[in-house]
Amino acid sequence: MKVSKKPALKSFNTFGVEASAGLMLTLENEEDLLSLPPFDPGSDFILGGGSNVLFATDIPGTVIQNRISGREIVKTTDQHAWVEAGAGENWHELVRWTLKHGLSGLENLSLIPGLAGAAPIQNIGAYGVELAAVLESVAAWDLSRSSWKTFSHQDCALAYRDSRFKTAEPDRFLITSIRLRLDRRFTPQLEYAGLREELSRINIRQATALEISDAVVRLRQRKLPNPATSGNAGSFFKNPVLDRDESQALLARYPGLPAWPLNEETIKASAAWMIEHCGLKGHRTGDAGISDRHALVIVNHGSATGGEILQLARKVQSTVHDTFGITLEPEPRIVEFSV
Ligand code: NAP
Repeated sequence: MKVSKKPALKSFNTFGVEASAGLMLTLENEEDLLSLPPFDPGSDFILGGGSNVLFATDIPGTVIQNRISGREIVKTTDQHAWVEAGAGENWHELVRWTLKHGLSGLENLSLIPGLAGAAPIQNIGAYGVELAAVLESVAAWDLSRSSWKTFSHQDCALAYRDSRFKTAEPDRFLITSIRLRLDRRFTPQLEYAGLREELSRINIRQATALEISDAVVRLRQRKLPNPATSGNAGSFFKNPVLDRDESQALLARYPGLPAWPLNEETIKASAAWMIEHCGLKGHRTGDAGISDRHALVIVNHGSATGGEILQLARKVQSTVHDTFGITLEPEPRIVEFSV
């Protein structure tokens, strides 16, 4: 286990905001878990790849960084292969590795920043595929009991950008590895028009899983600001989920608002459209701004603080609420300790 005193966290978050912690412990293998000091959710924090977090304050206690690596095909049948990946594996490298081994299922989730261990927390999703489609189980260390626990797919309570690890029991379990059931026979998932258009733009009719992955990479590179040049954490707001009555009333007032059925009772409406409709796309307050490429992305144009970014996010929330009567929920974890 690596130990760093008073670490600067700027290079550990894709927003690139300044923050510090008392101590950083970097886990390199499962044995390191046995020597962890007691975890206090009131002052300590578990950090993944830093791509879905906003440090609005410093962290008074310890940051635990999980870098447990390893990826392996653990079982195969005619149709499927089961892959186990350490929580510290880079997500996109894992996706490409599975494709190289002739396994499909993750191609639509290419280039999502972050580490494999964070994928179930948020039930990452893109281009019509969610991790839920392939996640079989999660192994975790219970920080409150210092013991191992394995969660089945069902136990993870995966929902739209949500899971038990994010909402019901945040900060209790440190995910150490995930197990995925991937396909050996490829079925393309092309429900999203943007992806179909990208493939037909380059004249691909029957795309392979690798070609879909490449297309998703190009789309994301084109549409999303690069955190290396302007700090961001991808989409800052989730698309609001409304019940059918609520959404009908809203769509009657705003017929242009894109909306999709999530299940029989609920509709998912476009948060990006609402923000753009409020005239906020490209808006800037100091170095905190809304991307002019994608209205869901808040960017750090240089030296914005986490607090300034949070202030801008709250402004977006209140403007959208005043206009549409809808409260947008942030997607990244907002880290705010009373320091
Ligand atoms: P897009 O394809 O135009 O999608 C815009 C929004 O419309 C997305 O939020 C998406 O919802 C929704 N959408 C589009 N087609 C849909 C369909 N057939 N059925 C249901 N919902 C549909 O462009 P985009 O904004 O660049 O997003 C592309 C994909 O990348 C999306 O899946 C998006 O979530 C994902 N993405 C994720 C992040 C992140 O940081 N988490 C950042 C950027 C993009 P969903 O969000 O539910 O997919």
